[in-house]
Amino acid sequence: MVIGIPKELYPGENRVACAPSQVQKLVKAGHQLMVEKDAGFMSGYTDDSYTEKGAEVVGRDDLFSRADVIFTVRSGAAAGDQGAKDASHMKDGQMVIGTMDPYQPHPSFEIFRDKHISSFALELIPRITRAQSMDVLSSMANLAGYKAVLLAAGELSKMFPMMMTAAGTIVPAKVFIVGVGVAGLQAIATAKRLGAVVSAYDIRPAVKEQVQSLGAKFVEMELETDSAEGSGGYAREMDEDFYRKQRQMMTDVIGDSDVVITTAAIPGKKSPVLVTGEMVDAMNPGSVIVDMAVERGGNCELSRAGETVDHKGVKILGPVNIPSTLAYHASQLYGKNIETFFLNFFDKEGNFSIDMEDEIISSTMLTHNGELPVEERKRILG
Ligand code: NAD
Repeated sequence: MVIGIPKELYPGENRVACAPSQVQKLVKAGHQLMVEKDAGFMSGYTDDSYTEKGAEVVGRDDLFSRADVIFTVRSGAAAGDQGAKDASHMKDGQMVIGTMDPYQPHPSFEIFRDKHISSFALELIPRITRAQSMDVLSSMANLAGYKAVLLAAGELSKMFPMMMTAAGTIVPAKVFIVGVGVAGLQAIATAKRLGAVVSAYDIRPAVKEQVQSLGAKFVEMELETDSAEGSGGYAREMDEDFYRKQRQMMTDVIGDSDVVITTAAIPGKKSPVLVTGEMVDAMNPGSVIVDMAVERGGNCELSRAGETVDHKGVKILGPVNIPSTLAYHASQLYGKNIETFFLNFFDKEGNFSIDMEDEIISSTMLTHNGELPVEERKRILG
């Protein structure tokens, strides 16, 4: 098949859907690769590094008109206005794979449907063993968890590690991680590597052991969490009364922390508010909060997407698209995820089919043959 990799035009998006190493593998598997001029530039991959591996460097119009399948980092709602523009450039019956933010209506999804485009949203990859190497949410969350700690360390007016010097002893920073999924676990590991004293909390009971195995302290709270884990290992949305109790119970530990990193999320829903302005008031000036959930409404009442808010000396960071700041490796991992996902459409003899019996294909499919085949997804088109 002819695979097209366009340059990402969404503001601030530095990643590219495929690194040169994946190009080589896909060419070996019999595919023809087209990469838009400068598509990899912001990730640190030159056009030459793609042509050396067998890709052709082309213009955007050429790419959209010739490709059978388009690999993107962002399509549909995830690409904002650009998503609809790109969708209208796609040709009828084309296939597109990428993150799509498939939880809300967007004009591009209507265009996909009307043009009989087969679109696949990588956020919907099921959390099954066979799909682990395709799981973009995990690979990106892992990088984001690492970088969030570095962002905090860069803003904190204290050192992370303990130091015994001739000029006196420095005590280690206290870091509290709220929400210990993929990003939270990596944040714990990174903060530990930097020498901080780390504690963490998650409403899914299974997490306690994982936190302890990384050498961090699990903060115990008397909350009814038996039903907190939903399908696919994700958290379930709790009621406001639960969150109110949780905030009360976290107030002391937050007040005592130098750094708070929040990652608490519920798939497809607004993130719960777990840190109020009052709780921030209890922190010492010079402390730092990194709200990793800011793009989905935020875990901290005071955070603002893409900004650093100074609240009485406490810095509240609301970083957006953190993986894009590590574009070289993010593109490499994302590219591996998309390559594995794509090759799953082929059988051992190399025959392509869109097999709706395959859980990975049916879970991620948004539009196909002019329809939205998965009943529950019809709401995105209203
Ligand atoms: P996520 O990004 O959806 O959420 C981040 C974390 O926030 C989760 O751990 C969630 O439990 C937590 N959370 C939600 N509400 C909270 C609250 N009120 N207070 C504290 N924490 C709260 O989650 P994720 O990183 O995508 O991972 C969720 C789980 O799925 C993890 O256990 C992960 O290891 C697992 N996982 C499994 C597979 C697989 O089996 N293939 C792949 C990836 C992840």
